[in-house]
Amino acid sequence: MSVVIALANQKGGVGKTTSTVSLAAALASRGVRTLVLDSDPQANATSALGVKRPTDGGGLYAALVEEEPLLPSVATTAVPNLSVMPTSPALAGAEVELVSVMAREFRMKRAVEPLRDHFDIILIDCPPSLGMLTVNALAAADEVVIPVQTEYFALEGLGHLAHTIELVKRNLNPRLVIRGVLLTMFDARTNLSREVEQEVRRHFPNTFETVIPRSVRLAEAPSHGTPIQQYDASSSGSRAYEALADELLAALGDRAPARSAPATATTPTPQPTNVASTPLPPPAPVAPVSDPEGQY
Ligand code: ATP
Ligand code: MG
Repeated sequence: MSVVIALANQKGGVGKTTSTVSLAAALASRGVRTLVLDSDPQANATSALGVKRPTDGGGLYAALVEEEPLLPSVATTAVPNLSVMPTSPALAGAEVELVSVMAREFRMKRAVEPLRDHFDIILIDCPPSLGMLTVNALAAADEVVIPVQTEYFALEGLGHLAHTIELVKRNLNPRLVIRGVLLTMFDARTNLSREVEQEVRRHFPNTFETVIPRSVRLAEAPSHGTPIQQYDASSSGSRAYEALADELLAALGDRAPARSAPATATTPTPQPTNVASTPLPPPAPVAPVSDPEGQY
């Protein structure tokens, strides 16, 4: 068993992809077998991990529309323990094509279930909409994390998102847990950031303690096709996502995967790599987790 966590917010540019990729790399460095499932046709998580976007409509598109298995399309990355299910702009077509399909909201769930045997944590990077792809991700997930940019309009749209999550819980996925709101791009120099933080915490008491600072290094890392931990491990952004990984694993409690020995150290500034379609090694034994029934 593994834990599937969707990072969702229909608002664009709030740090969903940055958080997915950076948190995934921090978890992987703790020995957690981690998969980033890129469910955004922009394919930003795919590129940020240095993996080529598939040129055909394969991968997640084929899994959703044609019910092809996902595992053959999973690619390893330059980071030990970290894999990615790459996507391409063709995925945008799935939004439309799924409309007429039976049980269309469960296509991603069906595709993801077999991957649970191969990974401890699967992070789904959602697109900036509440369309079919995000609904599929919420139906497939055990938990949702909501990245929120620490800015004046932070709370705008969160009510709509909370309502959508509630509808998904009621109709599609009763066990879905809102793990927490994650404050991103916090600027310690401004009173505004502090005020917004207080406001968000007042409305959402399950906001993570860890706050992600605004950091130029975080913005630069994707263009190097590597997570922040490999690009600049000593940066404030890298340290924040390391702290977030620890906070998440502690919050998962019994559901947290047993950590194996940390992965072999990675080089500080690796070149962008393209490892798409590298076959996965056979799955390692999965550590047992407690009965999730007790958690929900
Ligand atoms: P979209 O909704 O388009 O998918 P998103 O929610 O995934 O966007 P990101 O792509 O992660 O958001 O971030 C938006 C932009 O802000 C990117 O250019 C990214 O590099 C930058 N960014 C994200 N987090 C930070 C941060 N903590 N500090 C500085 N820049 C950041
Ligand atoms: Mg994104």
